[in-house]
Amino acid sequence: MRNSPVTPTVDYDRDGVQHGFLNLPHSRDFSAWGSLMIPITVVKNGAGPTAVLTGANHGDEYEGPVALLELARSLDPAAIAGRVIIVPMMNYPAFRAATRTSPVDGGNLNRAFPGSPEGSITQKIADYFQRTLIPLADVIVDIHSGGKTLEFVPFAAAHILEDKQQQGRCVAAMHAFNAPFSTMLLEIDAVGMYDTAAEDQGKTFISTELGGGGTVSAETAAIAKKGISNVLKHCNILAGDPEISQTRMLDMPGSDCFVISEHSGLFEPCLELASPVRKGDLVARIHNIERTGTPTIEYRAKMDGILAGRHFPGLIGTGDFISMVAIPVS
Ligand code: ZN
Repeated sequence: MRNSPVTPTVDYDRDGVQHGFLNLPHSRDFSAWGSLMIPITVVKNGAGPTAVLTGANHGDEYEGPVALLELARSLDPAAIAGRVIIVPMMNYPAFRAATRTSPVDGGNLNRAFPGSPEGSITQKIADYFQRTLIPLADVIVDIHSGGKTLEFVPFAAAHILEDKQQQGRCVAAMHAFNAPFSTMLLEIDAVGMYDTAAEDQGKTFISTELGGGGTVSAETAAIAKKGISNVLKHCNILAGDPEISQTRMLDMPGSDCFVISEHSGLFEPCLELASPVRKGDLVARIHNIERTGTPTIEYRAKMDGILAGRHFPGLIGTGDFISMVAIPVS
């Protein structure tokens, strides 16, 4: 396969702190011979494990960029053993546009893996992670949140994997992250995800969903900062023990966790996040916005659990995600 068109301005093998860019040639109307410059920081001190930390895989999710820009600014190489590679804004064009997907090519980076060195901008970013950064990693943390259209209880997530030894490593890293909730996450659409690409390479991988609504809160930013620091301690890149408080374990046994809208209209949530829910409970109503005097459509939970995620904007369309119920486990 053709080499990646990305040229890093940092040297992954050099000790110390380097702030630079992933330079990806991007010829466009206002910069004919220009490049997309994706910020990257490498902090290295001798031999040891490598962590690859990413945010804004989706451009409208902000806990990752907030926590990782802070880490890039502050991480002292003398305080670590090994290497930390930080890309706070992975889908940089999407981040600059405050959109989930890239304004350049419409690409959803978290559905673009394994990518292609000959594809669109988003596919080229995916390919660089696929063939260069994932192979360097021992542990990968990819910080997501709900973005403009979803909101979640703050959770770290691992997946059910065929390799139970690898799954155990991922679950241990999820517990080290120590978000208020820890979820064995069932993906609606796992094909093309960064998660799947990293897991297929045998890596210890965790992701998160921390809040949403296209913004960040003081609480969720603090969860991201503590979680990342904890994972670096867990894999002995930083000294010390992870700071652990209570987490609630959540399980997602199947597709009944999700309710999807078959109507469009005005969205009225009927339950707050983290509320206990029983099968048949009302989770949302959709009001007809084309005429008055018509009944609302009621959407009900398909199983018992807690409300772990829901639609965020005031308007909803057919096919939109309404809610996610997960089961607390002890
Ligand atoms: Zn996301």
